Amino acid sequence: MSFSIALAGNPNSGKTTLFNALTGSNQKVGNWPGVTVDKKEGKLKGHKDIIIEDLPGIYSLSPYTMEEVVSRRYLIKEKPDLIVNLVDGSNLIRNLYLTSQLLELGIPTIIALNMMDIVKANGDYVDRRRLSELLGVEVVEIIANREDGLDDLKKAILKAKDVKSYPHPLHFSPDMERGLSEIRTLFSDSINEDFARFYSIKAFEDDKEMIKDLDLSEKDLGELEKIRQKFRDLNDDDVESIITTERYDALSNIEENVLKRKPFKRTRTDKIDDIVTSKYLGLPIFALVMFVIYYLSIATVGTFATDAVNGFFEETFAPFVGELLASIDVNEAVIGLVTDGIIGGVGAVLGFLPQMVVLFTLLSLLEDIGYMSRVAFVMDKVFRSFGLSGKSFIPIMISTGCGVPGIQASRTIENDRDRRITIMTATFMPCSAKLPVIAMISGAFFASNQALITFSFYMIGIASVIVSGLILKKFKTFASKPAPFVMELPEYHMPRPKSVIRDVYSEAESYVKRAGSIILLSTVIIWFLSNFSFSLQMVGGRPEDSILAKLGSLLALVFRPLGFGSWQASVATISGFVAKENVVSTLGVLLNTSIDQASSTSLLGGFNLIIGDSLAGYSFLLFNMLCMPCFAAVGAIKTEMNDMKWTLATVGYQMGFAYVLSLIVYNLGRFFQYGSMDLMVVFGFIMLIVMVYLIFRKDHYKMEEAYSLT
Ligand code: GDP
Ligand code: MG
Repeated sequence: MSFSIALAGNPNSGKTTLFNALTGSNQKVGNWPGVTVDKKEGKLKGHKDIIIEDLPGIYSLSPYTMEEVVSRRYLIKEKPDLIVNLVDGSNLIRNLYLTSQLLELGIPTIIALNMMDIVKANGDYVDRRRLSELLGVEVVEIIANREDGLDDLKKAILKAKDVKSYPHPLHFSPDMERGLSEIRTLFSDSINEDFARFYSIKAFEDDKEMIKDLDLSEKDLGELEKIRQKFRDLNDDDVESIITTERYDALSNIEENVLKRKPFKRTRTDKIDDIVTSKYLGLPIFALVMFVIYYLSIATVGTFATDAVNGFFEETFAPFVGELLASIDVNEAVIGLVTDGIIGGVGAVLGFLPQMVVLFTLLSLLEDIGYMSRVAFVMDKVFRSFGLSGKSFIPIMISTGCGVPGIQASRTIENDRDRRITIMTATFMPCSAKLPVIAMISGAFFASNQALITFSFYMIGIASVIVSGLILKKFKTFASKPAPFVMELPEYHMPRPKSVIRDVYSEAESYVKRAGSIILLSTVIIWFLSNFSFSLQMVGGRPEDSILAKLGSLLALVFRPLGFGSWQASVATISGFVAKENVVSTLGVLLNTSIDQASSTSLLGGFNLIIGDSLAGYSFLLFNMLCMPCFAAVGAIKTEMNDMKWTLATVGYQMGFAYVLSLIVYNLGRFFQYGSMDLMVVFGFIMLIVMVYLIFRKDHYKMEEAYSLT
């Protein structure tokens, strides 16, 4: 006489691991009859007469999946001598949901409580003896992948072979128990007594396949339905949900009795998080932190160093190189190229290196101590309250360093629509190549408020993402409910100087490398185009005759409504598409001649000449921050969108958004600051109204399901 064991448990509870450990190589693999579900059979090592059948992983004995149907048919039709129910102890109650159904079969059962290493590591405790008493089954603790406890399990199996003992199914509420006994009287003779409770419950649940086994008369079926209806009315719920609720009620009683969780101790991290991530303080603290960071890097510490570096390039290095080249009779044009072009352009970018280093250091420190994940946590709530995916904030935060990895990080967003919106808006953030532009322009026009202006562009970046979300989500192409985003907050810890230094060094290195390569090349081209006419004559004191000036003048028409309609500002903007630092280097090259022409020879005079007043300066910055990112980032957009149309739509949207916003700000600024009133001011107001309408109009697709949740 052989003895048959069915191994049952949830998927991932360790069934395969245990099966292999118990049977060794002694296995037969096939399919369950008629379905493509794996069937594995083996013999217990050292016991040829004990056959172990590995059932498919299941969560329940309902008829909804092939695995469930296969398992319950086997259990009822073949009626194994013993069930070994594998339970993942680290997920106890969810696993016991299946157990509660197995116990109703009236087949002797052993619970193998697996993953005990994880239970211990979590600091939890499962009272094995109490569980055993309550369920009327042996409970053996094991760690399947280390073959720990397998001897005990084998002993329990051999004991069950000799002495048959039946489990205690969970008790439901008195009402439910009464209902089940009533049902049971309907089919008292037709089935094996062991299965009576299982069938009563299945009959109550209106499980058609199981009811067929019962061979009930029409009259009995009518009685059955009456009982069901009584419970439906009583509970205002469907029959299956009523049973599920009964199970979980009974299981929560078990949980109380057998599971002792690690007492919850509040750590220093919890206490800090109470403040840093709190509902009301979280956002203000984040804003304050960012302001202080920009204040320290752009307006104080960094400024001194930047002035020193710029002073060195302009007053010492350029004249020195100029004289040196002159002394060896180098052509004057070449001297101009080197001093005004290369040193003027690349030097202008390098001049901001000290500010960037201070900024990189502060951001890296925040990241390292763990604050940045809190920011993501706080912003997740903000984003979701605007209907945007909380996951969007990670790419956006990364884009503060560089848009390319930021855009790539959007891959973690499963929902296509949310991912597209994120890619389309991530580069609204001021990246480290845009910061020298902000520093230069705000230094020229808003010297006393530099930190505030820089900070404003961080906030404008976030606001632009949110506003874009509000506008775009109301179109059908983008409508979707934001998916919840669960994230873990690491413990705070002291900064590790090594990792901070490594971060800062690599950021600084890439900044310098860009200055020495792409910026250098662009600078040479800009210098050439701004010093030669179409007839390839040097323009000398008449820069307005240069190729660049002629081309730029055409572009300038486009930018005039935004306030910076000079050819120099237009060309600088366009050069920024190659790399945003180019705005700085191009202005660096072009300013040299402008300063000479300005009535005052001051730097601000030069800026006034090529950009205009401070209002135009702000509009210039606004456009340059929000318009299409550099080519490298557009390349990343193309890769992630994997679609040319979407890439063009993205660039088009960014250009349009930047243009409209700058137009509104510049023209409304003129109205409020100078009382100007003309067609452009009216147009600015109209655009503002259109924008407000797009943000606040009714959302027709609000309840649309996220269409690709995985
Ligand atoms: P099945 O889906 O039920 O067949 O589960 P598997 O046997 O494939 O196991 C799922 C995962 O859990 C595998 O990576 C196993 O190595 C691991 N595992 C199994 N038992 C234990 C255990 O007791 N402790 C730990 N930590 N991991 C286990
Ligand atoms: Mg498996």
